[in-house]
Amino acid sequence: MNKTALKTRFAPSPSGLLHLGNIRTALFNALLARRSRGLFLLRIEDTDQERSSEEYVTALMEDLRWLALEWQEGPEVEGEAGPYRQSQRRSVYQADFQRLEAEKLAYPCFCSQEELERVRKRQLAAGQAPRYPGTCARLSPEEVEGKLAAGFKSALRFRVPSLTTIEFEDLVRGPQRFATGDIGDFIIRRTDGSPAFFFSNALDDALMGVTHVLRGEDHLTNTPRQILLLQALGLPIPRYGHIAMIVGRDGAPLSKRHGSRSV
Ligand code: GLU
Repeated sequence: MNKTALKTRFAPSPSGLLHLGNIRTALFNALLARRSRGLFLLRIEDTDQERSSEEYVTALMEDLRWLALEWQEGPEVEGEAGPYRQSQRRSVYQADFQRLEAEKLAYPCFCSQEELERVRKRQLAAGQAPRYPGTCARLSPEEVEGKLAAGFKSALRFRVPSLTTIEFEDLVRGPQRFATGDIGDFIIRRTDGSPAFFFSNALDDALMGVTHVLRGEDHLTNTPRQILLLQALGLPIPRYGHIAMIVGRDGAPLSKRHGSRSV
């Protein structure tokens, strides 16, 4: 198999049993890989240690195998881009956090949850879309030093370039355009040091050589952020396709409320 072969992936967070929506996403990815004689990769997105459990990792692998959705790269099969569990990739992420910070493409943010919540409420009340106002983007190096020396904990925020447009051709929905002015600087490393979803998910797709990302429509607005990150890191950008969600009779995405069960 050469390096440019098509590669899809399924990237569940092991915080519950797989349900119909997850399986449908996995199925489309597995079928696309199979049709193109490509690879289907499995990655466990377990950065949220509190919500993830080993029991769900075991269960989801059993469910996938039971449905004959076998992966050619991932846990238990392994491959050259492993490890395939994000909890084991901390050192990989660390290098890129440092690089982004050194190049001033990311900055430490000391804002507390309460402060962020206050700003959010104010923006909503003024009829604006909630967005990080850039408070810590304007701190001088001395101010940052001072806060760190005083023991304040910081998250790391990605500096979104202003006044550009991110465009991509969605495999399902066609041409997409997003103005970066509508995207606030977003957190890529949480205060506890763990990577945020936007970051680890996009970085791993690139490092694992994923060429096609098929995922739920609920991720569509995450994609321009992830493209910006990959551009900043000089990494390859996969093709994205966002598929409609399975909804209940009330039009809301299928959930426990509708009796959505595990497979
Ligand atoms: N872990 C994410 C989820 O389960 C993956 C999203 C994606 O496919 O990019 O929602």
